[in-house]
Amino acid sequence: MKSTLILTVAALGFVACSPSGPPQTNQSQTGTATPPIERMALDTYSDGQKQVLEAFGWTFDPTKISTAPLKEGFAVIFGEGGNILVSVGDDGVLLVDDQMPEMHEALLAEIRKLGGKKVDKVVNTHWHFDHAEGNRAFGELGAEIIAQKNSTEYMKSAHDINLVQIVYPQQAYPEAAIPTLSFKDAYEFNMNGNDIALYNFGPAHTTGDAIVHFKTTNIVHMGDVGNFSGMVFIDAGNGGSIDGAIKTIRKTLELIDDQTVVVPGHGPIKDKAALTAYVTSLETVRARIAEQMTKGLNLEEIQALNLAEEFFGSNGPLLIDRAYTSLN
Ligand SMILES: [Zn+2]
Repeated sequence: MKSTLILTVAALGFVACSPSGPPQTNQSQTGTATPPIERMALDTYSDGQKQVLEAFGWTFDPTKISTAPLKEGFAVIFGEGGNILVSVGDDGVLLVDDQMPEMHEALLAEIRKLGGKKVDKVVNTHWHFDHAEGNRAFGELGAEIIAQKNSTEYMKSAHDINLVQIVYPQQAYPEAAIPTLSFKDAYEFNMNGNDIALYNFGPAHTTGDAIVHFKTTNIVHMGDVGNFSGMVFIDAGNGGSIDGAIKTIRKTLELIDDQTVVVPGHGPIKDKAALTAYVTSLETVRARIAEQMTKGLNLEEIQALNLAEEFFGSNGPLLIDRAYTSLN
């Protein structure tokens, strides 16, 4: 089964990639539009999804995890999947995103090194597998899970995620992995001495994004609305919007200052200046695409212009494809 899948991926003519992986696509070398991809029909997490992840190049190797300490009681865990922000303190352990269930033992080992014992609370920045699939483990182990209400709804059933070069068949989450607390526009709570605010400013990377602002400590986790890996993805197939992503980042910039630690969904930790530069690049690419659409160019013709290469290199076509789709 595994070899069949990988062969299928190879046969489709692209190099496997993931929302968190390093830039690996060769698509922009030609600047041509990607042909429609067959959906991989897989029914269960255990039988199919893991093998798709292997096709992404993920191995669930614990040694791939690394932890960067932030301010007192805070750290970011990097690995296969979205960046995890950890808060450890008197009230317990809070995770913002939880990667993949296969890694939960390795994640717990990192959390213990930070002084935590177990995961008490998880905030999902959105419902995508590489950020929230770890709910399968930590929900089962008793963590309270919080998400924006649209993400909670998305987790209850299966959804294809069109990553342009591959369609990822995300499965429904089991009951223990579904958030027990959902919010619409905003939700605030206090944990470990921190006032923490969750915000949704409408559709952006998905329709259910949560911007997580640790107001007391001055840290913000952007989820995939802020992606510093270079591989920027808007889930236009599930209601995501380039305009909404820009709006969400602009709203967030109003909340933070020059000292704020900005944790992206993927990529390195940066600051407000970097987030400002990032949104400016999105606005520039968006304007370039819209200009060509006004002239009547189709997606393939727009891709040939390499409008995003200046900012996103070989990953430009992914952003253009999804931005174009969300504008269309
Ligand atoms: Zn995502």
